[in-house]
Amino acid sequence: MSNEQPKIPQATAKRLPLYYRFLKNLHASGKQRVSSAELSEAVKVDPATIRRDFSYFGALGKKGYGYNVNYLLSFFRRTLEEDEVTEVALFGVGNLGTAFLNYNFSKNNNTKIVMAFDVDEQKVGTTVGGVPVYHLDELEERLCGNIPVAILTVPAVAAQALTDRLVTQGIKGILNFTPARLNVPKHIRVHHIDLAIELQSLVYFLRNYPLPS
Ligand code: ATP
Repeated sequence: MSNEQPKIPQATAKRLPLYYRFLKNLHASGKQRVSSAELSEAVKVDPATIRRDFSYFGALGKKGYGYNVNYLLSFFRRTLEEDEVTEVALFGVGNLGTAFLNYNFSKNNNTKIVMAFDVDEQKVGTTVGGVPVYHLDELEERLCGNIPVAILTVPAVAAQALTDRLVTQGIKGILNFTPARLNVPKHIRVHHIDLAIELQSLVYFLRNYPLPS
């Protein structure tokens, strides 16, 4: 993120790509302005949060007018550094890893999985979703300290040892899909997504906090 930008709270920053994708679609359909109510309906974030988020972007909605789509888009483009593609390496080409490789994130945003690693000889040397799969033994040689982000879709038992190697390689961020809780130095950011826990928590909320119909 550019240093000239005002500091945006982390929770707001996490919603940025969501707003951005929706506004790009609006822009493509020729819309010039959008109200916080419309945005709220589309991205499922409450209007008060949207208004607060947008005030950080210097976008002040006008009553009866809404927000200027072009202004917001140019802000998001600058902030998310749309022009600069961040390269990502994926570890573990199992069911989940294969799905991510085929999904090809770069279609919708500024990240691109450029290489994948596995230990299974059947998978090493293949290409999945256009991405080459290398043996884990080649990690240091292939990354060469040049890839800032890793996605972990390996078995939980393999996650920490792999993380330690990634840290040595200068990785900056890890998207961890394994249930393992990772120990990393303070300067490395780990986002943990445990799909099983998310699903369990959804079911718990459905049972215990039903939404009013
Ligand atoms: P699959 O159905 O292909 O066996 P899976 O999605 O059921 O995979 P896992 O057993 O969690 O899941 O393994 C995910 C992938 O991680 C597999 O392709 C496996 O070969 C690979 N893997 C296992 N250990 C490591 C490791 N240390 N580094 C990289 N990849 C690994």
